Order: sequence, then C-alpha cells, then structure tokens
Amino acid sequence: MAVWMTLIKKLGRSLCIARHFSNSKALLQSSECDDIVYGPEHWQLRYSLRKIIEKDINPHVDEWEAQRKFPAHKVFKILGDNGFLGVNKPKEYGGLELDYTYSIAVAEELGNINCGGVPMAIGVQTDMATPALARFGSDFLKREFLAPSIAGDSVACLGVSEVGSGSDVASIQTRASRKGDDLILNGGKMWTTNGTQADWMCCLANTSDGKSHFNKSLICLPMKTPGVTVAKEIQKLGMWSSDTAQIFLDDVRVPRSHIIGEEGQGFTYQMLQFQEERIFAAAAVLMPIENMISETIKYTIERKIFGQPVLNFQVVHFTLAELAAELEMLRSATYRAVALYAKGQDVTKLASMCKLKAGRLVREATDKCLQYWGGMGFTEDVIISRFYRDMRLISIGGGADEVMLSIICKLMNTLPKTKK
Ligand SMILES: Cc1cc2nc3c(=O)[nH]c(=O)nc-3n(C[C@H](O)[C@H](O)[C@H](O)COP(=O)(O)OP(=O)(O)OC[C@H]3O[C@@H](n4cnc5c(N)ncnc54)[C@H](O)[C@@H]3O)c2cc1C
Repeated sequence: MAVWMTLIKKLGRSLCIARHFSNSKALLQSSECDDIVYGPEHWQLRYSLRKIIEKDINPHVDEWEAQRKFPAHKVFKILGDNGFLGVNKPKEYGGLELDYTYSIAVAEELGNINCGGVPMAIGVQTDMATPALARFGSDFLKREFLAPSIAGDSVACLGVSEVGSGSDVASIQTRASRKGDDLILNGGKMWTTNGTQADWMCCLANTSDGKSHFNKSLICLPMKTPGVTVAKEIQKLGMWSSDTAQIFLDDVRVPRSHIIGEEGQGFTYQMLQFQEERIFAAAAVLMPIENMISETIKYTIERKIFGQPVLNFQVVHFTLAELAAELEMLRSATYRAVALYAKGQDVTKLASMCKLKAGRLVREATDKCLQYWGGMGFTEDVIISRFYRDMRLISIGGGADEVMLSIICKLMNTLPKTKK
C-alpha cells in the first residue's frame, strides 16, 4: 500500500498535517484558504510527497541541472512505488483512483522541487501523456502502457508538437498509413519532453486525409521500435534537468491496435487531455511563486543598503505584498477549476484562464523578485535565477498565452471568424 495511505491511517483523518510543517519553506497559505479543496487526506498526500522531494529529489537537483538531465527511470520508480504517478488513475491498472483534486494537490506540492524541469517531466507522465489512454484506451493498451507508467517502470512522452506545428495542432504532418493490421508512421516530433529517456510516446498522427479535426489519432508508440530516432537533444534557456528531444519517425511499424480509443478522434482526445495539462501548469507555479516571495523576503531582510534592510523600502515590501495577493487570486481560480473538473464539468475556459494568468504572474513574480537580489540574482548561486529561466516556459509550452486568449475569446464568442 502506498506510504501515504498508511500515514493517513496512523495519524487519523482529523489531523491537518499542513499546520505541522516545521522545516518547510514558507507556507503562506496553509491555514487560510486551502481547506476549500484540500482536506486532511490531501495534506497527508502532500506531506508524504514532500518527504520524497526532500530526501530523493532536492539534494540532487543541482547535479541534474549541471548534467542537463535527471534520471527519469530512477525518480519515477520512487514516485510510482508510493502511488504518485497514478493518483486519479483506475485501481485496475495500479492507480489510486482518487478524484482530480488529489492530482492537483500533488501538482502543487511538486512546486517545492528546486527547479522547474523535474516537475514538468513528472507532469508529462501523469497529466499530459496518459489522461487520454486512461479514459479511452483499450484494456490491452492500458495493461501494456498505462500500468507500467503508473508503477514507474516506464517513462512516457507526448508527441504532439512538430517542427512546423506547435500552436496550430491541427496542422501536424506526421502520418500513420494503414498497412494491413499495422500502421506505418512517417514524420517527426519536436520539443518532446522526456524524449531521450522515454519508453513510449503518446503520438498524435494523421490517420486519414479527412478534415483536420477528424483525421487524427493518438497512438501508443514504443520508442524502441525500428525507425524511431532521437535526432537531437535540444539545449534550452531553462528547464535544464528535463531532457527535450527532436524525434524522427521513418517507416515505423506499430499494430493498429495501438490507436487509443476511436480512430479519427485523436484531435478531440488531445484537446480534452490539454484541460488537465493546463490545470496542472497553473497548479505547478503556485509553490514556486510562493517560495520565491518568501526567499526574497528572507534575502532582503538580511541585505542592508543605505543603512537599512532592502525590505524596508516601501516599493519592495509593497511589491511583494501585491505579488502575494495576486498569487492568492490565481490559487483560488485554480482551485475552482479543479473542483469543477472533479465534478465532471467542462472547464476549458477557466482552465485556459488559469494557465494564461499563471504564465503571466510567474514571469512577473520571478522578474520582480530577482530585481531585489541585485547582482546576486544574476548568478547561478541562487535559486531565483533558475526559476526566472525555467518559468519563462509557462507562457509558451502547452499552448502559448495567445492560444489561451484565442480559446477564451472563442468561448466568449468574440473571436472573429477566419475567412477561407
Ligand atoms: C521546453 C519545452 C518542452 C516542451 N514539451 C513538449 C512535449 O513534451 N510535447 C509536445 O508535444 N510539445 C512540447 N513543447 C512544445 C510547446 O507546446 C510549443 O512550443 C508551443 O505549443 C508553442 O508552439 P511553437 O513553439 O511551435 O510556437 P509557434 O506555434 O510557432 O508560435 C510562436 C508564437 O506565436 C504566438 N501565437 C501563437 N498563436 C497566436 C495567435 N492565435 N495570435 C497571436 N499570436 C499567436 C505566440 O506568442 C507563440 O509563442 C515543448 C516546448 C518547450 C519549449
């Protein structure tokens, strides 16, 4: 049984462990607002994950950042053994089958990892490459790909973006042509997180020539299949612990039974899968923003200029207070999206709003906080510079800010119809 389940039993349902964190970074929020979606079990889950982060992840982050890669199989096995890779996935395949609020408690807690790359890689496994498989995949595919991903025995990646198609998902060129009972894939994927280490890819490909929203399928593609090549490890501005690959697909043969759900529904499944990716992205920035504010408070108390702590200047403590206020707005909206999604509602608009504001706020927060560290903020010796680099991605990856705005406008009926 997962460690945290045992803990819940031992400590009893009424204990809110959040109030007992003693060695944590600041928990500005814990007693004030989080009980809206988080009960004692959520806090137990977070506490159990925090112990893993403090013991098995954070002590190694500097080394992984320097190596430009973290050992995904090793880390995922630890997380899988403790139930963290299948929180809302079916028990039948090894998951805990808890509602989505628990998955988001995990996403939020992952924000206590001392970099953005490792949480992103975990999010790809849990909330980006596997939701469609869990929801629509056949029993065969779930046993073959989902169960080992939940156990931490397999690493997954998501192959949607291509060299010529990022924001415009419908324009992908990778093709899976039918040959008897098999599919032959040709094309390539770009920006594939976990791509150099993954055992399988949830790959979006065109399976017919029909309309672009109805000619695509999601396919489980084992990465060791002949014809799959990691063409390039992409060097990036940030997210250094996470490997990002360009993948070539040349006459890659997979059985047709590897199509997730119904053939031709891949675009729709991917759009549904994006809802979880976007809520995950919003939840994953909450702790980094909170931690950056509290680290900046600590630093600016210690650092004296013109005879007083930097924090004493009104512009500094007012700015940090305003960032804390905006953080709480984002947290509340994210929790609302999570609560509605857990009830089965379509939260496309709210999830897109949360992702948009998360990207904007985390950029503003890391930039403003870094400013108050002066020259130190510009060095690799402090964590604020890492988060400044890593968090820049939130406004680009998983749908850029402008894509979020387009979705929101579409749902507000304000997006002009494109002339064809
Ligand atoms: C580190 C990293 C990891 C990633 N991991 C993955 C992964 O695992 N799997 C995967 O499939 N993809 C992944 N991606 C790809 C990511 O989702 C895309 O980069 C993103 O969707 C943007 O696509 P693009 O880079 O092709 O930019 P483009 O589509 O070329 O867009 C360029 C810019 O145009 C602007 N723009 C877009 N739409 C509009 C609009 N409607 N109006 C006005 N302006 C607009 C935006 O500012 C956008 O940034 C990753 C990317 C990075 C950098």
